[in-house]
Amino acid sequence: MSFQGSVEANCPSCQDGFTAPIWSFVHGGKDAALRDQAKAMECNLLLCPSCGAAFVPEAAWIYYEPKEEILAFVFPTSFKAEEAKWRDKMKADFAAMREALGDHLPIGHEPEVFFGPEGLAQLLELEDWRSDERDVMAFFAQDLGLSLYKASPAWAREHGAPSWFPYAGKTPTRDSLIAGIKKIVAANERLTAWSDYLAKLEKAEKDAGLPPAAMAAH
Ligand SMILES: [Zn+2]
Repeated sequence: MSFQGSVEANCPSCQDGFTAPIWSFVHGGKDAALRDQAKAMECNLLLCPSCGAAFVPEAAWIYYEPKEEILAFVFPTSFKAEEAKWRDKMKADFAAMREALGDHLPIGHEPEVFFGPEGLAQLLELEDWRSDERDVMAFFAQDLGLSLYKASPAWAREHGAPSWFPYAGKTPTRDSLIAGIKKIVAANERLTAWSDYLAKLEKAEKDAGLPPAAMAAH
């Protein structure tokens, strides 16, 4: 459910003005090609019909990937000069979207705000890397007969933690997570995201509880 709007673009090379369709809302979970474009910083890249120059027009757009709890507002780089104003606009737009989309929005965390395409591209690269690492961990977990606890991906990014945790036994608890992670890192010493988190988990208060669970968004 990505959708397009249109923009009055002005070519920075030859100053020609033209109307072009641009993506105003990209659902990265449903449109793999658009997700790839965002990762390559090519989403909404326009080609001037007069001189052929490639440029990104002065238009904001939204990137949404509910499974990974990503909601990002991507403003043009030039808007950075008035950052506070655009952050306020984001908050107002986000409130309106919440009204319109209700349960389909990942609630409970602030959207990301980027000026220019680089920040989102880096976020998506990192998510891909983390998801590959997660798949390796899940493979070992299955082999060892461990279960998986799926924590909130937004929480995981914010805390530099993995988002899936292996656990031993029937119920995910702090102790069963610790037992599960010990087995995983003993089986594969390259799963450092989990060995790093194990140290944090062991240092935390005994009654600290589990990381928040992933929201069941689609
Ligand atoms: Zn041009």
